[in-house]
Amino acid sequence: MHGFDQELLARLDRLRGDGLYRELRRSDSPSGTQIRVGGQTLLNFASNDYLGLANEPLLKEAAIKAVEKFGAGAGASRLICGSQAPHHELDETLAAFKGTAAALSFSSGYAAATGAIVALLGKDDVVVVDKLAHACLIDAARLCGAKLRIFDHNDLGDLEKLLRWAADRGASATGRPRLLIVTESVFSMDGNHAPLRELVELKDRYGAWLMVDEAHATGLYGQHGRGLAEDAGVGERVEVQMGTLSKAIGAAGGYIAGSRALIDYLINRARTFIFTTAPPPAAAAAATAGIELVQSAEGARRRRALWEHVAAFRGQQSSPTSEAQSAILPILVGNETEAVDAAAALRARGIFLPAVRYPTVARGKARLRLTLTAAHTEEDLSRLRQALLELHLIRNQ
Ligand code: PMP
Repeated sequence: MHGFDQELLARLDRLRGDGLYRELRRSDSPSGTQIRVGGQTLLNFASNDYLGLANEPLLKEAAIKAVEKFGAGAGASRLICGSQAPHHELDETLAAFKGTAAALSFSSGYAAATGAIVALLGKDDVVVVDKLAHACLIDAARLCGAKLRIFDHNDLGDLEKLLRWAADRGASATGRPRLLIVTESVFSMDGNHAPLRELVELKDRYGAWLMVDEAHATGLYGQHGRGLAEDAGVGERVEVQMGTLSKAIGAAGGYIAGSRALIDYLINRARTFIFTTAPPPAAAAAATAGIELVQSAEGARRRRALWEHVAAFRGQQSSPTSEAQSAILPILVGNETEAVDAAAALRARGIFLPAVRYPTVARGKARLRLTLTAAHTEEDLSRLRQALLELHLIRNQ
């Protein structure tokens, strides 16, 4: 044991030396614009609870009712005896919300990504992934055993080169080897958008399938709040629509939405669905309530509030942020240690905005990943702006 711990302690020291050491910060408050950490109450600009639903009474009541009626745990996997009514209601609500023939919920977005990609592809196939795609998509692409190629971020020319290379090997949607393109719609660390219309055109031209992770877009974009694919008018042309229920929806879990054939296939073949206990019924019920709220007039009101906050904040500052509309407004710092120091200085000013570093982003691209939510107030935004100006993290325009 001694040698084992020595080895790990040496590795941890190296992480510290590189400014990459991570530790948990206990929070004694629910998700919201204020967070209680280390005995201090701070203004929170780090959450993905974009519409302020995670502590919303409607979601909590739905979860409590589900606990009372169905218990705390599901007791078994969905395919054994854990497929309780709240799971079915969630899957049906999801399909109606996304406008797809069917949908399947998973215990997390991570599990949804892994389950789908590993079920769809095998070692003879080709998977082509955007360079900035989330770790769960990269891990899934590695795990499925297919030939993995990475295309430069949002670079359609680079993607087409890889599609041509794959097509020369015979890869297409119609025969083995299969060809799958994987991207996010709104990128989690930069807040910019994928060119979904062009991606759909390209994948059709090369006979590929397309999987889009709408983790940071579900509930926020499009007429029904379905995501960026709806906004771009290509929802029906994306074979595998993925997302999470843990961000704008305010609950927990992941989903895949698409054709009935896709969902029936995943029920049969997605290992992260088959070999795991069904999520707690309360999580499914809270997610259903979250999706319903997102589709209501109150959901539309919160989306408007969110975009007003984003516009108000962006109008005031000129640090490098993405051009596309997004609640994610990263402030690039670069050096890892400097980013950690900046986060500490913000904490001293009552602002909670931790540094995001390698391996979440590339080395030397550390940043403060600022997120705004519908629940922030004008006063919150001006306190944030003041602190960022004082620390020269943004400039006055
Ligand atoms: N995809 C993206 C782009 C994400 O940002 C995340 C969560 N950070 C996930 C997938 C995973 O979702 P979950 O948290 O539900 O596992």
